[in-house]
Amino acid sequence: MEKQKVSDYFGCMVFDDRVMKANLSADVYRSLRKTIDEGAKLDIGVANAVAAAMKDWAVALGATHYTHWFQPLTGVTAEKHDGFISPSPDGGVIMEFSGKELIKGEPDASSFPSGGLRATFEARGYTAWDPTSYAFIKGKTLCIPTAFCSYGGEALDKKTPLLRSMEALSKQALRILRLFGNKTVKCVRTSVGPEQEYFLITKEMYDQRPDLRFTGRTLFGAKSPKGQEMDDHYFGVIKPRVAAYMEELNQELWKLGILAKTEHNEVAPAQHELAPIYTTTNVATDHNQLMMEIMQKVAAKHGLVCLLHEKPFAGVNGSGKHNNWSLTTDSGVNLLSPGETPYENAQFLLFLCAVIKAVDDYQDLLRLAVATAGNDHRLGANEAPPAVVSIFLGDELSAVLEAIETGAPYKGIEKTQMKLGVDVLPKFNRDTTDRNRTSPFAFTGNKFEFRMLGSSNSIACANIMLNSAVAESLKIYADRLEGVEDFETALHEMIRKTIKDHKHIIFNGNGYDDTWIREATEKRGLLNYRTTPDCMPHLLDKKNVAMLTAHGVYSEAELRSRCEIMLENYCKAVQIEANTMVDMARTQIAPAVEAYTMELARTAAAKKALDAGLACGYESRLVKRLSVLTDEIADRVEELESAVAALHGAEDIQVQSFAIRDGILPKMGELRLACDEAETLTAKRYWPFPTYGDLLFGVR
Ligand code: ADP
Ligand code: MG
Repeated sequence: MEKQKVSDYFGCMVFDDRVMKANLSADVYRSLRKTIDEGAKLDIGVANAVAAAMKDWAVALGATHYTHWFQPLTGVTAEKHDGFISPSPDGGVIMEFSGKELIKGEPDASSFPSGGLRATFEARGYTAWDPTSYAFIKGKTLCIPTAFCSYGGEALDKKTPLLRSMEALSKQALRILRLFGNKTVKCVRTSVGPEQEYFLITKEMYDQRPDLRFTGRTLFGAKSPKGQEMDDHYFGVIKPRVAAYMEELNQELWKLGILAKTEHNEVAPAQHELAPIYTTTNVATDHNQLMMEIMQKVAAKHGLVCLLHEKPFAGVNGSGKHNNWSLTTDSGVNLLSPGETPYENAQFLLFLCAVIKAVDDYQDLLRLAVATAGNDHRLGANEAPPAVVSIFLGDELSAVLEAIETGAPYKGIEKTQMKLGVDVLPKFNRDTTDRNRTSPFAFTGNKFEFRMLGSSNSIACANIMLNSAVAESLKIYADRLEGVEDFETALHEMIRKTIKDHKHIIFNGNGYDDTWIREATEKRGLLNYRTTPDCMPHLLDKKNVAMLTAHGVYSEAELRSRCEIMLENYCKAVQIEANTMVDMARTQIAPAVEAYTMELARTAAAKKALDAGLACGYESRLVKRLSVLTDEIADRVEELESAVAALHGAEDIQVQSFAIRDGILPKMGELRLACDEAETLTAKRYWPFPTYGDLLFGVR
């Protein structure tokens, strides 16, 4: 494999356009393309032909099974494998795969979370092929990307609402483009390039830490003498073992047609980043899910573990995922790119305004789309970006908007007023500075970068909300502009009004700054939902339900189910953490501290026996402090344990989530404090698991 050229094996495990063209008859290929490009209905004859070709191709590459690959609300992907084999009359077997099996599957859905959408006795759900995302081979299995619905038609997954949101956005964007005289464009797609952060640690150390194994993050651990303070890891030289990992990871991703492109070390020790080249949002979402899976698999082959948790280590940066997002027409025009002509610029400004308005009007939806117990340790904690949503535009673009709003002259432009369709906008420089690294939502020249996503989040949720909110802005604009007599004046007025009404969401300063949070919340009235329990219930706010149902992205029942499941996930995640802490403190930490205390006491006794006049101040001070800490640990363990037990009385999931936020998490913090101090005082040979220093600097 190493000696092969990348172009020789790129996408070799994907049933992509090249394979389709080569293996389907011209008629079948044309029909399928129509389905992929325009959403045309697929007839069963074509489906049968595609299925047969897919099966032959997959079998030739060693596949024995197929699966409908889908993304239930657990946040990971699911698959149930079925064999291609079928008995033949002569006692042998033949490999079979029909169009019906390609299009629709019926996994038993009863064990997937549905948030009340599907009574458990109605166990059936079905999966439906998404022909816009190519099928691929993983191991010995042909994977067919699918949507997952209940028999009543409610979406039980993340792909269905994502596809709906893309359609809603396309529909509204087309209305706007028509107003600008574009008669040829057929659809508008959003593209996403997600930059994925992760940590790598050795498998050997990981295995010794129950917290990492059960929860994905360390629940104990005193600060190591060295952390990220030297900034020597960011873009630093990649260690050979990590380089070997990245090389194999790239190869595996390339085989799957995933355009993994950039990779580098991140700010924290042991932290890295991988970014693919952007592609259509639903494909990017599938690829990101697949990428997270392959990252972990390849790590295992290298004796490493890839941590995707948002905050594996306290005191060093957590991991996020930057969602680079843009809008493109089917002819390849990026609508967020300032154009060459005044008219194109007016169109650009309108789309830009649509995003500004969307982000402001639906701050809550964007915030809650990335809310998980893990991400709460980043957003709203001591780390950038903050939980307050704001937009970075850069000085230049902000100045242009200000000129439009006030009618004041914009530098260099002679006319007194910045009138759309008349003046030429300056060429905006792509932002290359570092100053906006703290912004949750930054314009970076021809795309927006939404930076609040957690490293383990599916990017589906954030993009569903973003697409829907922008669709809503565009709808409002189109409703207003269609049929007006003086289009240019109405357009100008609309842009001016958007800037005036929504400029409070624009902030070009340092978002990781207490003064900003105060200004944002007190002066500008922006939302600051610091935790999952704070923001999640707003999914069901009237305005949000109205918008999301009006665009057909979610039904009200689907929204209720999402809210329930997300809160449930939060509660479960923290409870597992609390239980793990109780267990580790009681069965590992306290015994280790006791054993060391005993050694100290014995040493002191032995010294005294030798010479009663010996001081033994060191031992006795340490024994005293460690005894205090052991008691403290025991007390905190008991408190935490009974607080968790008390939770089971709370029926309502929202009530429970608040109890967890205000009762359980602070108690976990107290227990940790005592244990971490004990760690710094206990001889290393007694400590029951690898320390922060071991973990963060262990991969060499
Ligand atoms: P950085 O943000 O580190 O400066 P880049 O801008 O090169 O890096 O790219 C970051 C990610 O943004 C990559 O995944 C890239 O493919 C993606 N990206 C670049 N242009 C676009 C675009 N027009 N739409 C969506 N994503 C894009
Ligand atoms: Mg970036």
